[in-house]
Amino acid sequence: MHSTTISREIAQPKASILDTIGDTPIIRINRLGPDHVDLFVKVEAFNPGGSIKDRFALAAIEAAEASGELKPGQTIVEATSGNTGIGLALVCAAKGYPLVVTMAESFSVERRKLMRFLGAKVVLTPAAQKGTGMLAKAEELAREHGWFLARQFENEANADMHSRTTAREIVDAFGGTGPDIWVSGFGTGGTLKGVSRVLRAECPHTRIIVAEPDNVPMLQSGIAQVRDAEGRPASHPSFRPHLMQGWSPDFIAKLAEDAVMAGAVDQYQPVSGNAALQAARDLAAKEGIFCGISSGATFAAALQVAETAPAGSKILAMLPDTGERYMTTVLFDEVGEDMSEEELEISRSTPGARFDVAAPAPAPAAAAPAPSCKPEAAAMVDDIVAEHPVVMFVLEWCEFSWSVRKLFAAAGIPYHAVELDAAVMQKDNLGGELRAALGVKAGAPTIPQIFVGGEHVGGATDTFDGFKDGSMTERLAAAGVPFDASKTTDPYGYLPSWMYPR
Ligand code: PMP
Repeated sequence: MHSTTISREIAQPKASILDTIGDTPIIRINRLGPDHVDLFVKVEAFNPGGSIKDRFALAAIEAAEASGELKPGQTIVEATSGNTGIGLALVCAAKGYPLVVTMAESFSVERRKLMRFLGAKVVLTPAAQKGTGMLAKAEELAREHGWFLARQFENEANADMHSRTTAREIVDAFGGTGPDIWVSGFGTGGTLKGVSRVLRAECPHTRIIVAEPDNVPMLQSGIAQVRDAEGRPASHPSFRPHLMQGWSPDFIAKLAEDAVMAGAVDQYQPVSGNAALQAARDLAAKEGIFCGISSGATFAAALQVAETAPAGSKILAMLPDTGERYMTTVLFDEVGEDMSEEELEISRSTPGARFDVAAPAPAPAAAAPAPSCKPEAAAMVDDIVAEHPVVMFVLEWCEFSWSVRKLFAAAGIPYHAVELDAAVMQKDNLGGELRAALGVKAGAPTIPQIFVGGEHVGGATDTFDGFKDGSMTERLAAAGVPFDASKTTDPYGYLPSWMYPR
């Protein structure tokens, strides 16, 4: 194996995040696959949004800006299995457009959260209505509200971008002649149409292999896609639910159909869900390449093609996205949160920091001095407690303090929080003085301490127990504080699970 050097090209600062889209690395596979071929992957996770769809997002918006179809500040709307939405969300954030995404509820939760984190609104559609349902919703919203629909499934800007960028990167990386075999799946078919036409024109020897889920042979079926008068696709009869999010929606997209019609496909390669998962896990654990399920599926297809490929073939598989958006899916099913038997064994192999052996007792402390505090600080604590019906003395980022805050917020209990360790409280050690005074008043050194109606309740667990035994209900009622009792039935549930195993 070659020795690794960290290459360092002198790069100018980028004008914006958008300048980091594309130009993703093509990487040799060293430890997987048969020896008689050279396997490569194009790792689209290097795009800033973690997937190949950043390319489309930028292309769609810039094409619509150029044509005048998209007006400054106009809302953009799109139906997406997630990656397009994440790409659009980051392009919209960088360019200042509002974005609404429609997405079937069945796609992973990470995708929703990422889009919302990037400032987009996500409108879920029922899983039962599949891809055609989320598409219809996006069209309806665009029509009713005058929003710009990005139309990834038929927008020529999608394929054009792949011809201009992805295809060029592939052709150039293989010395202008392209790889011997190029393997891709398809969702919109943007990658397939855009890359294949450049390969056909410039690298006629390159064989193009299209992977499909083994239970969804939609292109292989040869059954034509039915569309209505407006070109809207009906659900295809060969569609079945499958594992490869982002691949094969329940219809053949216009761009995918164009590629097939143009003779872009030399061979179809069916891939099973299990082969996809295994390939994604192997790429991560044996090559250090962390990618998603459709990437695993494309690589699994490449491995199958490699078996019978001529010796010396250079085979390139597309890896469309990062594995990080699959943590809540079956891809991570075998990855536990707790230590495995093997990990426990490693833990037990040395004496330190173990769960099965009590920590050594601390050296006996010198007799603690009787708690004392400054009278001014004691008066301040008294004033604060008298002034507000519900007061909590907290540390800004302490888990117990946060749990009480979350509980009160969920139940709609208004409270006054004194953050003893906040930066502003460090002036003249005010926080420390108040903490000392609180220790004397509460008779306990721990934080948080909670007061209701001027009376001391106790710490976090005392407060939780108070909701369980009804005393908190009485205290809050006496102090005239209404609250939503349905949110306080499992107060310990607000603690992180490592503190309170559920
Ligand atoms: N894999 C994933 C994870 C995707 O999100 C997509 C895009 N839908 C694809 C593959 C397929 O790419 P394309 O839309 O260019 O066919």
